[in-house]
Amino acid sequence: MKTHRALVFPVTWQSPMLDWLLREFRLLVNESIRIALKEDIRSRARLVRAAYKGLSATHVVYKQYIPSAFEVALSVLKPHRRRLKRGKRSSTPYIRKLMLKAENQSYRLDPKTGRLRIPIRAMEAVQLHLPLSEWHQSFLSDPSWGLGSLTVVPGKIILVVRRGAPRPYEPEAAIALDTNEDSLDGVVASGERMVPTALPFDGVRAVQETHFRRRRRLARKKAGDRRVMCRLLNREGQRERHRIHQRLHRISKRLVQFAESRRAAIVLEDLTLHGAGGRSRRMNRRLSSWPRSMIHRQIEYKAALAGVPVIKVNPAWTSKTCPVCGARRRDRVGKVFVCLMCDWEMDRQINAGMNILKTALASNEALARAVRFQPGALRHDVVSPLYDLFRRGTGAREEPSGVESRPGRGLT
Ligand SMILES: [Zn+2]
Repeated sequence: MKTHRALVFPVTWQSPMLDWLLREFRLLVNESIRIALKEDIRSRARLVRAAYKGLSATHVVYKQYIPSAFEVALSVLKPHRRRLKRGKRSSTPYIRKLMLKAENQSYRLDPKTGRLRIPIRAMEAVQLHLPLSEWHQSFLSDPSWGLGSLTVVPGKIILVVRRGAPRPYEPEAAIALDTNEDSLDGVVASGERMVPTALPFDGVRAVQETHFRRRRRLARKKAGDRRVMCRLLNREGQRERHRIHQRLHRISKRLVQFAESRRAAIVLEDLTLHGAGGRSRRMNRRLSSWPRSMIHRQIEYKAALAGVPVIKVNPAWTSKTCPVCGARRRDRVGKVFVCLMCDWEMDRQINAGMNILKTALASNEALARAVRFQPGALRHDVVSPLYDLFRRGTGAREEPSGVESRPGRGLT
């Protein structure tokens, strides 16, 4: 398995040649989109056969950019075709933004100095300088990270670095977590015991509420001037995203470290399976503004780098099922889940975490061998923050020494 990171560099240039190349590339992509649509082409190989000759005769750019443009064109077409297939409306797509995408054999980068050479056409190239920070250098000087594609857009250069992730270890424990608005909640389970736990999000919700109020106020105040309003709203949104990102990174890092120290698998809901129908407008705003998928993404890539296995389960009924007897409640569940069949009672979010674990155990043999599911023992336990469990070393395993020297650590 491969993991990727995108390194972003703010770069401006005064090069009419590079500007010309970006315009040419945009043209190439848009022409490729038209050809692929007309001839119903879905693979790069077929697009190469159908369009390479014609396009390389009319566009005198470095030849390797043409297949890159095909790649971009097909990735733009994918969601368009999906919408059509579902019977939704979709207009023929084209890219508006100036851009260039170069594969790693096209450009040259000196990882020490950040000097970048981008070919324009045969025998012609431009030189740019990427401002390398220490963080960037930690990737570029590490031979286990290889260079991937390079994307140039006005004002910004994005360099993808990639490396093979270690094989995930065989889990000896599990951390099953339900994703809520302001925390991840669930259980840590090993061969001996199961402990309820919570991983709070350091006030992410408060940040979101403040920014939501501010955006409302701005929108009202600047309602007369759309241009100013958009600019201010964008800036507010960026600030909010930045603040939330930072908090979530801290949390996902801790979770993965904790899992690694226990040789535990992380079990989460598969959020892509959530249907969107039948929710109120307010609930929709809360769900969409809440970057739940963001914390999942962070957990997944950090786990992949550390070799921590991640198991995703179908979230259907996790909050409405009794983990002891399996009975379901069809009505609204309050703060505490109460089973009508047996006398099970549990905090709703911890209860959902237990169901997530139970689902994972049913489908994953390795995990089922390592972990015992005993809800009864958990009944009177107090919910402990994951950090406390980390510090106390509760559960199967003490912190192994030498963890700090493992690869993949500290790259967050
Ligand atoms: Zn029950």
